[in-house]
Amino acid sequence: MTRQMQEYLYRQGILKAPTTDPIFESAGCDECHGTGYSGRIALMEMCPITMELADLVARGAPISEMRKIAQANGVLSLYQEGLRQIVDGHTTYSEIKKLSYTSEG
Ligand SMILES: [Zn+2]
Repeated sequence: MTRQMQEYLYRQGILKAPTTDPIFESAGCDECHGTGYSGRIALMEMCPITMELADLVARGAPISEMRKIAQANGVLSLYQEGLRQIVDGHTTYSEIKKLSYTSEG
């Protein structure tokens, strides 16, 4: 994994420390019909409702405010969850970049 990628993942809250782990790129073969992928993974945003969030919901607070609190509590966005899956070796950056609802790029 390049240093630049590590810094990016660190800023996104995915990496906590430097790593020598590789990041995979997809390469096709006959078995996967040239896609380089096997199976599918689901990306999900999991947001536990804390007392603080429940209070915001009850007050009808704007989504942006709830999102800010959730992120402060360590909740990952869909895009960030995708980045985590890259680090875990389950998918590739080029695949996550295709997501239309990314927070950047
Ligand atoms: Zn293959």
